[in-house]
Amino acid sequence: MSRIYNFSAGPAMLPEAVLTQVQAEMLEYRGSGMSVTEMSHRGKDYLAIAGKAEADFRTLLNIPASYKVLFLQGGASSQFAMVPMNLLGERGQADYINTGSWSKKAIAEAKKFGKIQVAASTEASRFTVTPVQEALTLSPEAAYVHYTPNETIEGVEFPTLPETGAVPLVADMSSTLLSRPIEVSRYGLIYAGAQKNIGPAGLTLVIIREDLIGRAQPGTPAMFDYKIHADNDSMYNTPPTFAWYLAGLVFEWLIQGGGLAGMAEINQRKAAKLYAAIDHSGFYKNPVEIRSRSWMNVPFTLPDPALDEMFIKEAKAVGLTTLKGHRSVGGMRASIYNAMPEAGVDALIAFMADFQSRRG
Ligand code: PMP
Repeated sequence: MSRIYNFSAGPAMLPEAVLTQVQAEMLEYRGSGMSVTEMSHRGKDYLAIAGKAEADFRTLLNIPASYKVLFLQGGASSQFAMVPMNLLGERGQADYINTGSWSKKAIAEAKKFGKIQVAASTEASRFTVTPVQEALTLSPEAAYVHYTPNETIEGVEFPTLPETGAVPLVADMSSTLLSRPIEVSRYGLIYAGAQKNIGPAGLTLVIIREDLIGRAQPGTPAMFDYKIHADNDSMYNTPPTFAWYLAGLVFEWLIQGGGLAGMAEINQRKAAKLYAAIDHSGFYKNPVEIRSRSWMNVPFTLPDPALDEMFIKEAKAVGLTTLKGHRSVGGMRASIYNAMPEAGVDALIAFMADFQSRRG
């Protein structure tokens, strides 16, 4: 067996220790006589798994008791609809910050449900910057402000939180949640698809301040109502049991590794050395302004797109895969989430230097 360094934007690498544990527990989970994936979600064994996962997740992020954690399905894309369906309320309007491809999708979906104002857009820069606070046109009448702390495709990240006063801040943290500590109390709602730093695809996490629950528009289907999920501890219907269990193992791995502060240090170091290699090469380029560079997704271009295919092929031959950039941006993209070892980033940097020396 040989595992390679997979730079996919998601689904992405998972910690090897977690996969080994899943393998060991696959046929029979801890004396239960069955695999986790065969268990009733209402049985004692599974409820213990689910409860432990939530407790560990709360510990990692230091989530205040006044917030509910929901384990849902439907991906972050479903949250693009659920957020406005549940939070627009009587105000019927919200502010969205447009910083990239995923913000745009969130905006397009929200427009189906109410009056959506774009508080700032960085599209003119081809999404290579984030807006400063003074550039935001925020309405005190908005039911909430939505933003995307890290744009997975463009590799652009807010260095600080937008200030929204009394208006709740909603964040699509799909590609950053668990990569560093955050202050949950500064948000009204946080959501993330799991398939980057959290666990397998199929699980979607929502952290919601309790006072924002129970405001769904009349006619909201049960499966789209946060209150239904909150009242039923995310078991109104059958939850994604195996993904929830596996995410729980990732939470344990993070806690055993010393928590999110340590993870942040490693992530920052991995990103810094990759950006330094790009900037000092005189060959590779990253278009994002320095203050808004993502720790998680690092896009870069080669001087001639004709070299792209060769780069990808040769990288694959040395065990570095899924480096092709998103079709809307081109070039390369290295996603370096929690489970990407620092040695993987070192191997990529060494390969980039070698490729340049041969093809540059
Ligand atoms: N938002 C962001 C920031 C993302 O990176 C992604 C997925 N790459 C999505 C939303 C969509 O997530 P999903 O595929 O889970 O619906």
